[in-house]
Amino acid sequence: MELKKINDNCYYMSSAVNIGYIVKDNTGMLIDTGIDDSSIKKAVKLLSEENLPLNYCFITHAHTDHFGGASYLKKKGIRLCAPKVEKAIMENPLLEPLYLWNGAFPLKELRNKFLEGKPVEVDEFCSPGNMEIGPFHLEILHLPGHSIGQAGVLFNDILFAADAYFGREALEKHIVPFIADAQQTIETLERLKSLPYEGAIPGHGEFEREVKSTLEANISVHKELMDLVLEIVEQNEGKLSFDNLLKKFLDENHIQSGSIGQYLLYRTTFTAYITKLTSDGLVKTVIEDNQILISQ
Ligand SMILES: [Zn+2]
Repeated sequence: MELKKINDNCYYMSSAVNIGYIVKDNTGMLIDTGIDDSSIKKAVKLLSEENLPLNYCFITHAHTDHFGGASYLKKKGIRLCAPKVEKAIMENPLLEPLYLWNGAFPLKELRNKFLEGKPVEVDEFCSPGNMEIGPFHLEILHLPGHSIGQAGVLFNDILFAADAYFGREALEKHIVPFIADAQQTIETLERLKSLPYEGAIPGHGEFEREVKSTLEANISVHKELMDLVLEIVEQNEGKLSFDNLLKKFLDENHIQSGSIGQYLLYRTTFTAYITKLTSDGLVKTVIEDNQILISQ
């Protein structure tokens, strides 16, 4: 983990999952926490080595790689804030393996630090719009798609974008990036293209001043993946079971799920594509012979 300075008030700790940091009038705020105690301890150590203050933490969304270290901060007396829906999940983190496992009590192997963070009481929820907290005047942006209630932070013309988009390297690595809602993912990406800011930092990737082409690359990935779903349906006489279509979709992308958890994350993105394609009238989703069928 490395502390990188963007300007006098904005920094980030570059890692597999970035942790943002803003400072003003001897008051500091983290943006996200990394996945566990070990990652947040590294971040806190980096700040103290540079004599940088820490008072608040804003958590962008309830994925464990972004809030897993929050309970450590809470014990240290750091004030936590998060978007409303995401706050509810952080306070009840069983919800993530539960929803991945179709709403049933999850398998033991799904209850790991990648899918279920330590529960943490968040001090306050934040709504989109202007937010005054300590000396900070923040603009909280509602950036749904990757998760339902994800928020980004705009401060001093720098956008902390969470997982609204992935850096190019992360985008290539993930192949099928995680999303919960395809329509909102694309709308959020389009909106970020038109907003004015000096530069942006994603949850996974590096800070960029010119972020437009990275945003476009993200949009293209989702559009191409949805086109692939349509192509597979066409090639199979216009009708496939949901599970069979998902298998063919992963095979076509040369993805081998290494665990049930990973498979379920891919399935969520795939389901988000099916929802969008169905509501756009490009496929039909019906139940037949006790199978969900996707047809033209
Ligand atoms: Zn995420």
